[in-house]
Amino acid sequence: MLEKAKSILKKYYGYDKFRPGQEQIIADLLGGKDTLAIMPTGAGKSLCFQLPAMLLPGVTLVISPLISLMKDQVDGLANQGIPATFINSSLTNAEVRERLYQVRAGQYKLVYVAPERLETDSFQAALSELTISMLAVDEAHCVSQWGHDFRPSYQSIRPFIDRLPKRPVISAFTATATLEVKDDIINLLLLSKPGIHVTGFDRPNLSFSVLRGEDKQKFVLNYLTEKSRQPGIIYAATRKEVDGLYQLLKKKGFAVGHYHAGLSDEQRIREQEQFLYDDIRVMVATNAFGMGIDKSNVRYVIHYNMPKNMEAYYQEAGRSGRDGEPGECILLFGQQDIMLQKFLIDKSVEDPARKQHELRKLQAMVDYCHTPECLRGYILSYFGENIVSECGNCGNCDQEGEQVDVTLDAQKALSCVYRMKERFGLVLVAEVLKGSKNKKVMQLGFDSLPTYGLFAERKLQDIKTLLQRLVATGFLSLTESEYPVLKLTPQAIPVLRNQTTVHQKVVQAPKREADNTL
Ligand code: ADP
Ligand code: ZN
Repeated sequence: MLEKAKSILKKYYGYDKFRPGQEQIIADLLGGKDTLAIMPTGAGKSLCFQLPAMLLPGVTLVISPLISLMKDQVDGLANQGIPATFINSSLTNAEVRERLYQVRAGQYKLVYVAPERLETDSFQAALSELTISMLAVDEAHCVSQWGHDFRPSYQSIRPFIDRLPKRPVISAFTATATLEVKDDIINLLLLSKPGIHVTGFDRPNLSFSVLRGEDKQKFVLNYLTEKSRQPGIIYAATRKEVDGLYQLLKKKGFAVGHYHAGLSDEQRIREQEQFLYDDIRVMVATNAFGMGIDKSNVRYVIHYNMPKNMEAYYQEAGRSGRDGEPGECILLFGQQDIMLQKFLIDKSVEDPARKQHELRKLQAMVDYCHTPECLRGYILSYFGENIVSECGNCGNCDQEGEQVDVTLDAQKALSCVYRMKERFGLVLVAEVLKGSKNKKVMQLGFDSLPTYGLFAERKLQDIKTLLQRLVATGFLSLTESEYPVLKLTPQAIPVLRNQTTVHQKVVQAPKREADNTL
C-alpha cells in the first residue's frame, strides 16, 4: 500500500517525497488505525487524508468548518485529477440531491461537508447505503472549548459516527498542541487508541520579530513600499481597524484587499480570489481570514495588533512561507492591545474558570512581546518542544548586543514588589521605583519605602519594560484578574538572596525599538 501511496504522491501531487509525519499518518490510516495529527500550519495536513482516501474503498468524508473554502479546495483537487465534491448550504436542495446521488454512484472519493450537515436526517439517510471508509476531521481543535476556535457544531460529529452502520477509521487534524485540546479531541471525537503524530513545530524558514512602541501606520507604509511586489497579510484586531488601514493603503496606491465578517460574501470571496491569484498583494484582515487558505507564497505576515494567544499568533503568522521560502512574521505591539484583548475576553467568555484560562494564555502572549530572549525558543517551548537558546533568525537573536549582568536591577525591582507586599500592579510599582510623587503613591506612603526612587534617573517606560521583562522571563508573575497584581515567583527568591545572577541581552544601538534597553 505504501508503495502505491508514493506513486500517487508523485503522480497526482508531483512531489518526490513525504514531509515529516505524512508517511506514518498515511500508514496508520491505511492500516485502519485512528490518528490524531498535530502539525503546524503549512506542514501539509491535507495530503495526509486525501491520499489514503484514494486508496481506501468507498468514500472519505471530510469535516471542515469553512464553507467558503470548500469550493476552492474541491476545485483544486479536481485540477489534480482527484475526484472530490462538497455538500454545503451554498447549494440548492436539488443540487444537494444530485450530488448525493453522484456520491452514491461512486463518482467521488472525497466529500467535504460542514459539521452542521451531519445533523440533518436527509444526509444521514443518503449515507446509509454507502461505504464510508474514513472520516477526516479538519481543524479538529474546534471541538474543544479550550481551543481558540470552539464551534458547537463539532459536537455533532460523535453522535453522527455512532449512528453509522459501520464505524469508519477516524483521522483528526489540528495545529493546536495544548494538552487540554488534545485530550478533548480524543475524548469528544471518540478516537480509539489513536496514533498520535506531532511533528516539529519549528518553521526554520520563518523569522520572527516584535516591535514595540512603533508608529504602526508609518511602519506599515515603509515596509510595504519596500515589499510592494510581494504578497503578504496584515492582521488587525477589529473590523474598524481593518477598514481604516485598508483605506489608507488604498489611498497610497497599494494593491490592497480587505477581509472581515462585516463584508458581504460576494466581496469577501472576490478579494480573497484576487489575493490568491496575486492581483491583490496585501490583504488587510481580521482573524476571520486565512483558515484553510492555501496560498503558498505569502512572504510576510504583519500583526498590527497583538492577538489573543500564542496559538492564534502562530497559526496566523504561520501562513507565511508555506512554500519553504523565507517568510517574515512581525508583531507590532502596543500597550493598548492588552486592554483590547482583555475587553474581548471579558465580553465573550462567561465561565470564570475559562476566563481565567484565557487571561493566562493572554499573559503568555504578552510575555512573548517582552521577552529579551530568542523568540523562536519562546514559541517552541510554549508548544512543549525543546528549547533552542539562540536561533539566529529572530528579532532578538539578530539584534547586535551582548548578555549583560542585570542582577542589581532585577534585585531592586523584585524587592520593590516585595516591599509593596505583592499587592499592586505593574504601573504603580514602576512609579514607586521612579520616585513619582503622584497621589496614589503618596497616599499609600510608598515614598517612605527604601526602594522608592531607586530608578529616579530612568524613564518610566524603561522601568515598565524592565518589569515586563522580569515577567516574561519568569521572575515575576501577574495575577489573572481585571487589575493584575505583580507577584514574586519562586525563581525570584535566589535572586533576592544573592544566590544567583540574572543576565539579559542589552542592545547597543537600538534600531527600531524605542524601549528595548533596560
Ligand atoms: P496545512 O493544512 O497543514 O496547513 P496544507 O495541507 O495546506 O498544510 O499544505 C501546505 C502546502 O504544502 C501545500 O501547498 C501543499 O501542497 C504542500 N505540501 C504538502 N505535502 C507536501 C510534500 N510531501 N512535498 C511538498 N509539498 C507538500
Ligand atoms: Zn532567535
